[in-house]
Amino acid sequence: MLLTNIKVPQEQVSFLQAVRQGLGVEQGLFFPTQWPKLDIDALLAMPFVARSSAILQALIGDELSAADIDAMVSQAFTFAAPLASVADDISCLELFHGPTLAFKDFGGRFMAQALAKAQGEKKTTIVTATSGDTGAAVAHAFYRQRGVQVVILFPKGKISPLQEKLFTTLGDNITTLAVDGDFDQCQALVKQVFDDKPLVQQLGINSANSINISRLFAQVCYYFEAVAQVPAAKRQQVVIAVPSGNFGNLTAGLIAKAMGLPIKRMVAATNSNDTVPRYWRSGDWQPKATVATLSNAMDVAAPNNWPRVEALLAQGVIKRDAIEAVMVDEDDTVLGVRQLYQLGYLSEPHAAVAYKALKRSLQSGEYGIFLGTAHPAKFKEQVENILGTPIALPEALARCAAEQSLSKELPASFTALKQQLLTLEQA
Ligand SMILES: *Cc1c(COP(=O)(O)O)cnc(C)c1O
Repeated sequence: MLLTNIKVPQEQVSFLQAVRQGLGVEQGLFFPTQWPKLDIDALLAMPFVARSSAILQALIGDELSAADIDAMVSQAFTFAAPLASVADDISCLELFHGPTLAFKDFGGRFMAQALAKAQGEKKTTIVTATSGDTGAAVAHAFYRQRGVQVVILFPKGKISPLQEKLFTTLGDNITTLAVDGDFDQCQALVKQVFDDKPLVQQLGINSANSINISRLFAQVCYYFEAVAQVPAAKRQQVVIAVPSGNFGNLTAGLIAKAMGLPIKRMVAATNSNDTVPRYWRSGDWQPKATVATLSNAMDVAAPNNWPRVEALLAQGVIKRDAIEAVMVDEDDTVLGVRQLYQLGYLSEPHAAVAYKALKRSLQSGEYGIFLGTAHPAKFKEQVENILGTPIALPEALARCAAEQSLSKELPASFTALKQQLLTLEQA
């Protein structure tokens, strides 16, 4: 299936080209212009890995063989996405059972597989910005992969210490840079790298953040897994709330809906960085400066996947009223974590934002799902502060928490970043 550059529609590429390139000319995002229609009931009856392979075959088309896609999915999706019941007709889709305890493992691990196919034997340098979990997912997905260097930029002091330890302690082919600035500045630096075509050429630079289409396609699969676990009698009443930052996760849910998955409504839940809820109300796109919140992986003022949401609306496959945009402030986030705990469910701020947004949106007779994007232990300090009770670390996290961070500091300057990248190549 061909993908089109949303900004420059004359530019059309295959799936593997899009995976290789990340972004198109003028920093345009690649996106399909039509969607495969599948036999949804048959799909929902299949096991997770087999079903996911069928979905990805339909999205990718015949550029990769069915056997290749089967193998990639089996390698990438080695953990479950269970639906945990929280209350009558409300569940959490737990996406945090992968190696870095966050939903980005799904996209990151499938992208590593796709990129290996796209690059063949060629050397690659992955440059990516993270507001928290992408970095860990990408670092683990590519750790010690032959021919791949990974460079991760993150905003210094603005992500949780544990989150940081998950990707700054690996070393080897993983370089981590603590940028003196916020996430939007990190993202802007990465964009500058991609604009430097000679540099991109010389180092075989590729991006790995949520703009890479392979991540998005992979994420479509767990929406099917969510609905497959909903009692059949409720399947036409499903409302899904997504804690959103760059809006990749929400876009994937909308793609699933465009492919025919019965999702009645998607709730785009943001923290105080509420560019999208304000835009949805007023029609004005007015990003403000990013503010730091408890749900720091969602501290994004200029979400880079939003043009894809607009594209789905323009294609007519998603109706405007199928999306609700809800802002949840810090007090309400705290309340959400506490209320969930009272219901017997230990959660963390990102999921709590989605839970509170869902509660505001849900009508009687509907079945609500909010996405659990990270394991509560990844936000140990925040959760312990909110609940006033200690929580245990899973073993993988306890191990790397004890290790030394290997990250280097970097001013928010393109010249400094370029210097680093060139040094890396000489090493
Ligand atoms: C990245 C992240 C989000 C936001 O997801 P987007 O696809 O960027 O909207 C939400 N929660 C957690 C824990 C994350 O790491």
